[in-house]
Amino acid sequence: MALDIAALQLRPVANGELNGSCPFCGDRKKHFYLNPHKGVYRCFKCGASGRVDGAAHYVPLAPLRQEEPLADATTLDRVYSILFRTLSLSAEHREHLLSPKRGLSEQVIQERQYRTLPPKDRIRIGREVAEWVEPRGVPGFYLYNGKNDRQLWCLAGLPGLLIPMRDFEGRIRGCQIRPDKRVGARYVWLSSANPRRGSNGTGARAVYHVARGEDPKTVWITEGPLKADIAASRMGKTFVAVPGVNCWKGSGLIEDLLANGIRAVVIAYDSDSVSNQHVARAVTELGWALRKSGLRVSYAWWPPERAKGIDDLLLMNGGLRVVNEQAWLGLVRLRGGRAAG
Ligand SMILES: [Zn+2]
Repeated sequence: MALDIAALQLRPVANGELNGSCPFCGDRKKHFYLNPHKGVYRCFKCGASGRVDGAAHYVPLAPLRQEEPLADATTLDRVYSILFRTLSLSAEHREHLLSPKRGLSEQVIQERQYRTLPPKDRIRIGREVAEWVEPRGVPGFYLYNGKNDRQLWCLAGLPGLLIPMRDFEGRIRGCQIRPDKRVGARYVWLSSANPRRGSNGTGARAVYHVARGEDPKTVWITEGPLKADIAASRMGKTFVAVPGVNCWKGSGLIEDLLANGIRAVVIAYDSDSVSNQHVARAVTELGWALRKSGLRVSYAWWPPERAKGIDDLLLMNGGLRVVNEQAWLGLVRLRGGRAAG
């Protein structure tokens, strides 16, 4: 069968080859390869192969943006630590953190290293970080095509409050942003999966955050890194913020709790967890998974009328109870969550 090269829709891949859908078998998963220099093609799905004239003059489609694979934990921590040294905290953000609504102290703000992601200066920030260590594979950084095809490391991310997400060893593995202008979600990940210009960006992975307190054997689980930091500073307990009520599964959370010698867990999701059946189900699933792994599980509870999150409740001094699963399921039934079964 003759190959109509002009009808092909191929993109560059490695080694100067092009690939795309196969005109012989209709495969759309890019099993069809053309080497324009040698003038040969082959489909690894149907086996069609042969020579074709004019391949050297074929004009391919633009390459798909390749996502850079995630850097290892040491590189992530090094790059983010340098980034946090490079940035500062604006007066507005400091005021917000010190306000009665948040109730953080100067000391905690220092320790947790909140920073401001400014609206400008992203190429300068990228260059300053890259002088120390190349931020390849670090979510938030990407290569910007500057003048004369010069490639410069640049920092992505919406302007806002930058919050480091730390593991049990205190290493930074990712960052969340609280954007200055609300964009739907109150918090977004620092990511460079889709920078407007440039390439070699990396998408953020959803990671949990550890706010370390004094008690090393018990961990309280909540949602949101700022909430965890506030609660840990108020109670002196270790808080872990999961990236979303349903998002602990892929995060390695349970394995890491066990590896760090944690024996007991208190689930302290927002108070709507007893009245919202989706959240109630998520809490129950997390509780069962933790117990199956040999951890002692209990549940934090307070009247939903009093406060939504445990951080708000702690700022109001009171009403917190820790109950066992039986009692918690009773509260869910009483409050209309129902989805525990
Ligand atoms: Zn084929």
